[in-house]
Amino acid sequence: MSRYLIDTYRSLEVYTPGEQPRDMQYVKLNTNESPYPPSPAVIAAASGEAGRLQLYSDPTCAALRDVIAGLYGVERENVYASNGSDDILNFAFMAFAGRGGRAYFPDITYGFYKVFGDLHGVDYTEIPLEDDFTVDPAKYHGKDGLIVIANPNAPTGLALSVDAIEGILKTNPDHVVVVDEAYVDFGADSCVKLVSKYPNLLVCQTFSKSRSMAGARLGFAIADAGLIADLDRIRYSTNPYNVNRMTMAAGAAAIGDNDYYMQNCRKIEATREAAAERLRALGFTVIPSKANFLFAKSDRVDGETLYLELKKRGVLVRHFTAERIRDYDRITVGTPEQMDILIQKISEILGD
Ligand SMILES: *Cc1c(COP(=O)(O)O)cnc(C)c1O
Repeated sequence: MSRYLIDTYRSLEVYTPGEQPRDMQYVKLNTNESPYPPSPAVIAAASGEAGRLQLYSDPTCAALRDVIAGLYGVERENVYASNGSDDILNFAFMAFAGRGGRAYFPDITYGFYKVFGDLHGVDYTEIPLEDDFTVDPAKYHGKDGLIVIANPNAPTGLALSVDAIEGILKTNPDHVVVVDEAYVDFGADSCVKLVSKYPNLLVCQTFSKSRSMAGARLGFAIADAGLIADLDRIRYSTNPYNVNRMTMAAGAAAIGDNDYYMQNCRKIEATREAAAERLRALGFTVIPSKANFLFAKSDRVDGETLYLELKKRGVLVRHFTAERIRDYDRITVGTPEQMDILIQKISEILGD
């Protein structure tokens, strides 16, 4: 830190992204990327736009919003496109909580919520998950501020039903409920169908996980036109060209190839279930996951040791140091071949 940084940001605890190491080729199961490449049409669309990079991108993102709206059965005014869904979450904390405003989210969830809360001076409360790591929806009924729920939750992979979320929406008509559906395509039920009924619902999704575009940075929100307009006020006050030309074209092409991506999701789900079985056979406790990762612990090796030993052997997983989950590792579901390597290395570490 320099001596010029203002006090507000000196004590900020920043988000720690998963490692993106360059030292060697790892079997990379640590940041929930897709193991499958973008479709050929996406690569062609991005390359095609590269020759027009001298021009600014469309600040209204109209073409992309239209294809997203078409896929989800809403109108353009209900769709917001952003530079990764992290941007939407950031803006939601700004727009719907802000300095001194309140926010509620689980104690174990996506680590960025806390960071956005701190960044914007929000008075947030972390509501403890139940002992089995589930979210008790009743604990979010009738709150006095912004509610943020990742569904499925990260890093547990557990999902709430649409009915459970609807209960939260109904009992908080004066506050926005953000449902972060970063992992919804891997088998959970989406709340997009509730958007027409609840003007306080903001559903966020991302192209980073199920649509193999983590490196392109593209997220979107679906909500009542009023909430989309609110996010746009912030976007037009920070960076109206937040989605670049190549990403915008790639995103539209990915929606055009939706079947390819949904097939990949089905493959990943099958790989997930097979890997969960094999981990359980090795004595692991594995939380039932509706996401593209498994959250697992062994009583024979602690979470940190397993992470370090796997790393030595060329396999990267994610370990979190928070008290309640330090025994666990979060393992991204890769290809079947990558999961074979994972299981083989774990067996080696356990001495089986
Ligand atoms: C990965 C992730 C995001 C953000 O993804 P972007 O790459 O910024 O679109 C948001 N929420 C959760 C829970 C995630 O895991």
